[in-house]
Amino acid sequence: MGGIRDNITVVQERIARAARKAGRRSEEITLIAVTKNVPVEKIKEAVDAGIRDLGENRVQELLQKQEGLAGEDVTWHLIGHLQRNKVKYVWNRVGLIHSLDSLPLARELEKRAAPAGEKIKVLVEVNVAGENSKFGLPVEAVPGFVRELTGFSSLEVLGLMTVAPLVDDPEELRPVFRRLRELAGEIEALALPGVEMRYLSMGMTNDFEVAVEEGSNMVRIGTAIFGPRR
Ligand SMILES: *Cc1c(COP(=O)(O)O)cnc(C)c1O
Repeated sequence: MGGIRDNITVVQERIARAARKAGRRSEEITLIAVTKNVPVEKIKEAVDAGIRDLGENRVQELLQKQEGLAGEDVTWHLIGHLQRNKVKYVWNRVGLIHSLDSLPLARELEKRAAPAGEKIKVLVEVNVAGENSKFGLPVEAVPGFVRELTGFSSLEVLGLMTVAPLVDDPEELRPVFRRLRELAGEIEALALPGVEMRYLSMGMTNDFEVAVEEGSNMVRIGTAIFGPRR
């Protein structure tokens, strides 16, 4: 592992190569640096190296790091499971919530944002591979769920997110990423108000190149930037 700046350069080059291979432009792909278990000084190094999007799993950690990095021009992404009782702390402090996975959670977000006249940008988390250990809706439930979300005027549904299974060969995940992209196409075709399939959040350290080849435009990378988590 080199320094954080070097790691970012390597990741960006790998994204660019995967994009080229798929006939895509790398500028359309947002690199989100995932900062779980990473101290503020190291996150600062990533920001100094040009990172503008940061992803956190836990609300508490996100708020602390946001404070530690106050004044930096960055967008925070909540990428982990969001409990309803944490919504009040975080709903207006993040640029995008990647993990909307239930109607009760949607209701709670609406309850905070609607009276304030604010919008909340969300992605729907999909458990494409149907793993028991993972959050997210099964593929078949997503179109109906998104239809229900149109009843929440403060939610802007901007795409889909998935966490792929951990496998040795990322090539095995190609059908998973492809399925998410197809699902986004099926939902776009419904032309629902307040719903736009602008973002596909898929791809992590072990599998981001395959995800980019299959249409990802938001990759969430921790280990390849900051090193293995302790
Ligand atoms: C930890 C995490 C990542 C980043 O994982 P790496 O393998 O370290 O790149 C991405 N997305 C989610 C939801 C995560 O929890």
